[in-house]
Amino acid sequence: WFEAHIAPVRFEGFRTAAMISLRDLTEAHRIERMRVDFVANASHELRTPLSSLLGFVETLQGPAKNDPTARERFLGIMREQAQRMARLIDDLLSLSRIEQHMHVRPVEAVDFTVLVAHIVDTLTPMAEENGVPIALELEPNVIVPGDRDELARVVENLIENALKYGRSEGEARPIEITLARRGVSAVFSVRDHGPGISPEHLPRLTERFYRVDAGKSRAKGGTGLGLAIVKHIVLRHRGRLGIDSAPEAGALFRVTLPAIEGTPANST
Ligand code: ADP
Repeated sequence: WFEAHIAPVRFEGFRTAAMISLRDLTEAHRIERMRVDFVANASHELRTPLSSLLGFVETLQGPAKNDPTARERFLGIMREQAQRMARLIDDLLSLSRIEQHMHVRPVEAVDFTVLVAHIVDTLTPMAEENGVPIALELEPNVIVPGDRDELARVVENLIENALKYGRSEGEARPIEITLARRGVSAVFSVRDHGPGISPEHLPRLTERFYRVDAGKSRAKGGTGLGLAIVKHIVLRHRGRLGIDSAPEAGALFRVTLPAIEGTPANST
């Protein structure tokens, strides 16, 4: 899209010419489009569980009023739908908080090794439930300046995605989680051996609400905002997010963050 201004100009005293100036509106249109899409998507995502909740309330007040078995089952579904709405609202709030400030402040020295080990511990029950083993390789004392909760969110989202989408066919292959220091950077990566992602989806994966398979994502409790949150947090920490994947070849998510000199592993 361009905005054009046409102005008549005298040329060499006797000829008339027109000067056309063009202003690129593509970027402005794109941003406006994204804003409109975002509001529409967020409303739709909230509407769906809400409609389902209202439907069950009506059923419980009417046909299922005196049926204790149906009541129990419906209350269970209603609880799940309400939890889904709560998750979505939490994610939307996280995104808007993260987007308000370009850089994190105040910054603390976060022991990334301890952070990753702790999150892996908390996700072990989910890994067992999904039948996905975890292989862990963490370099000690990798220290990253930043916001502990935000960094935890990055680690959690990437590992949870690998557990949700990265299950290999047949014999379960482990997801590989590594943390290492490379020069002045900390490199955290999560690799799975699941179905992978086709190249056409890769550039859009960190867009809000973008999912390769919306049904699968919802069934696994996804909001479609996880990778958008990851990307924003990483950028705020002056880091980079790399995604590498191909169909049937699993997926690799790699986060590179500026690190600070840690205590050598054997110095205590
Ligand atoms: P969601 O809440 O849907 O998981 P995300 O933003 O975390 O949202 O991820 C966006 C989409 O990227 C997911 O819906 C899924 O289709 C795809 N995806 C993310 N991680 C993986 C992975 N490890 N393997 C295959 N697909 C993935």
